[in-house]
Amino acid sequence: MTPVIDLHTHSTASDGTLTPAELVRAAADAGLDVVAITDHDTTAGWDAAVAALPPGLTLVRGAEISCRWHGVAPAVPLHLLAYLFDPGHPELADELARVRAAREVRGERIVRLLQADGIDISWTQIITAAGGGTVGRPHIAAALVRANLVASTTEAFGPDWLGERYRLPKEDIDVFRAVALVRAAGGVPVFAHPRATRRGRIVPDELIVALADAGLAGLEADHEDHSPAEAAHVRGLAADLGLLVTGSSDFHGTHKTVRLGAHTTAVAAFERIVAQARGVTPVASG
Ligand code: AMP
Ligand code: ZN
Ligand code: FE
Ligand code: FE
Repeated sequence: MTPVIDLHTHSTASDGTLTPAELVRAAADAGLDVVAITDHDTTAGWDAAVAALPPGLTLVRGAEISCRWHGVAPAVPLHLLAYLFDPGHPELADELARVRAAREVRGERIVRLLQADGIDISWTQIITAAGGGTVGRPHIAAALVRANLVASTTEAFGPDWLGERYRLPKEDIDVFRAVALVRAAGGVPVFAHPRATRRGRIVPDELIVALADAGLAGLEADHEDHSPAEAAHVRGLAADLGLLVTGSSDFHGTHKTVRLGAHTTAVAAFERIVAQARGVTPVASG
C-alpha cells in the first residue's frame, strides 16, 4: 500500500490543541505512516513526540519558521517549513528564540488594544493557556471564543478582529536568511502554502525563483488554503524550478477544522527531503 505522508502539523508546542504525544497517537489512529511535527518557531515538541511514537509511525522533526520578504513595502510575511535540521545550530536557535520572544510582546499588545476598546479578555489567561508553547493569534482567538465574543476561530480571524482591526505584525526572520540558516543547520526548507491568497498578501513567482537559487528545496502545493488552480500553479512552478512538491494538512487540533492526512505528500518527494537532510534523521519506533 502507498504510505500516507503528512508533513505539516502543529501541537501545543505552538498553536495546536493536541500535545506532541497526543499528536503522534492521533496521526497513527488517522492511518498515517509518516508525520512531521512543525510547530511555529520551535523544536520544543520534538522530544515528547519521539518518546510517544507509536509502532509503525515515522516522525519527521521540523518547524514552521515565521519569515518576511522585504522586497516590497510593507514587507510580506511568509512561512517556511524546515525539516530535519540540527536544533542546536546556534544562529538558527537564536533567531527562533528571538521570534518567540517577539511573539509574546506582540500578543500582549494585541490584547491591550482589545482591552482599550472595552473587550474583557486577560493576557495572563492567554499565556497560561498557551502553556509555554509559541504564542500566536489562535490563542487570542480561543480567548475571544471562551468569552463568547465570537462564535468561532474563523470569526475571530475576520476583519473586525484579529484579521485586520486588531492585527499587529510579527518580527520575523528575513526569508533569505532563514533559507540559508536552515541549510547551514543541515535542514531542508520548503515554502509553506505559497499561494494562499485567502490568508492575505502573497509573494510573486520571481521571489520563489530567487529562493530556489538561494537553496529552497520545495513548495507545499496541496493545502486547504490553496484553491485547485493555486495548487496547480504551485506544481507547475516547482516543475519549472526542479523543486520537490509536498501536500499536508497543517493540522491544528480544534483550532482548525482540517483533519490529519487531509492532504498528503508523495513518497518520492519525502525521499528527496530525507536524502538532502544532514541535521537529524526521521525516527521510527518498533
Ligand atoms: P500568527 O502566527 O500569530 O500570526 O497566527 C497565524 C496562525 O493562525 C497560523 O498558524 C494559522 O494557521 C492560523 N490561522 C490563520 N488564519 C486562520 C483562520 N481563519 N482560522 C483559523 N486559524 C487561522
Ligand atoms: Zn498555526
Ligand atoms: Fe503556515
Ligand atoms: Fe502551519
